[in-house]
Amino acid sequence: MKIRTRLTLLFTLITATILLAFAFVIYFSAVENREKEFYIALKKEAVTKANLFFDAKVDAKTLQDIYRSNRKILNEVEVAIYDKNFNLFYHDAVDIDRVKETPEMIEEIFKNGKMQFYQDDWQVIGMLFDYEGNEYAITATALDEYGYNKLESLYRTIFLVFIISIIIIYIAGRFFSKKAFQPITAMTEKARSISATNLDLRLSSNDSKDELSELANTFNEMLDRLETSFESQKHFVSNISHEMRTPLAAIITELELSINKERNLEEYKTAIQNALSDSRKLARLSNSLLDMAKASYDPSEISFKPIRIDELLLDARQQVIQANPTYQIDINFENNFDNEEEITINGNEYLLKTAFVNLFENGCKFSENKQSTVSISFEKDSIKLKFSDKGIGIPQEDLENIFTPFYRGNNKDFSEGNGIGLPLSKKIIELHQGSISVSSVVSKGTDFIVFLKTV
Ligand code: ADP
Repeated sequence: MKIRTRLTLLFTLITATILLAFAFVIYFSAVENREKEFYIALKKEAVTKANLFFDAKVDAKTLQDIYRSNRKILNEVEVAIYDKNFNLFYHDAVDIDRVKETPEMIEEIFKNGKMQFYQDDWQVIGMLFDYEGNEYAITATALDEYGYNKLESLYRTIFLVFIISIIIIYIAGRFFSKKAFQPITAMTEKARSISATNLDLRLSSNDSKDELSELANTFNEMLDRLETSFESQKHFVSNISHEMRTPLAAIITELELSINKERNLEEYKTAIQNALSDSRKLARLSNSLLDMAKASYDPSEISFKPIRIDELLLDARQQVIQANPTYQIDINFENNFDNEEEITINGNEYLLKTAFVNLFENGCKFSENKQSTVSISFEKDSIKLKFSDKGIGIPQEDLENIFTPFYRGNNKDFSEGNGIGLPLSKKIIELHQGSISVSSVVSKGTDFIVFLKTV
């Protein structure tokens, strides 16, 4: 069921309940009032008749005639007067006699002074009347036809008003909920038309700070992020293809030239050397891409464990030196650590080592002296690692782009590479909730500062 229909039904139901409660209160207070008022009217009528009979000495026959003639046009009250010994003093119509008085009943009136009850729909009262020191019991009864008719008409009116109100409320509810949900319907239509091919489309939002324009703005912001991510994915893929195509084309050309005609052994060796170098480049690239993919996993899918940073740096250093024996890497401790925990972080050994290897390699390969140094200092809850070199430095205009995949900057001619090392290192460090920043002076050297949280 649509929210719109649900809201309308809920709104109608709540209003119906309130209206119903309201109608009940009105109807039942009318019922009570009618009953009370009619008992009072009966009492008055009884007293009037007793006065006519006793005080005004109107004779019984006249009173009975009045009663009989009134009965035909209105609901005349039937009155009877008894003394203490159940002797009938006066009766409007003995032959009709609605209330069959009994000695017990008269006795109760004398005892309690009054009584009132229903006989079918007829209301009956019993009361005491004092005349010249003698007490009499009077009973009076009548049917409140007028009152009942009024009640019935009130009931019909309430019922009709209730039904009409509910219909109006339902229609109004549907109309207003449609109006209220119109922007959402428009948003749904627009969102439906947005796909990977037209990610530039945006939901329309107005300047008002209502919830819907907030939703539209949030959705648009999400689309901005998606669009950027899609664009960078596209660039990433085209960069990868480009990076792969160059060494592959070189390998193919080299091998084609070699088999085109007979060559001497030296030439074959050179061709194989070149093909091997290009294949290594490709292998490095695919390894870096694989690591990049791993570092992009959800952190919950990567295994983390406590690792000593100094040991990991030593491993990374060894790996770099093994591959490039001319490189020189120094590890310095800036201050002492008090316990194991200060030098231990919770991390993924393989990924962190990859990041450190990249930073060491960059420091060495972009320096004439092929030297890189890492300084370790222990701070409260974190470890600071400063990877520094006295190399060629990074020009200011390149500094903000060096963490972008495949960006190689002005230094690219100085040394080989694929532009993945730094973005990969950044990704890995951020995966460990750490941070990396760079400061560099051209021809003086570069410092990469990494902060990692300790356990
Ligand atoms: P690669 O080293 O494969 O070119 P990176 O992502 O590791 O790719 O580095 C990106 C760019 O940043 C490099 O091409 C280089 O221009 C610059 N760079 C990184 N580290 C250093 C460094 N220590 N000294 C000078 N330039 C550096």
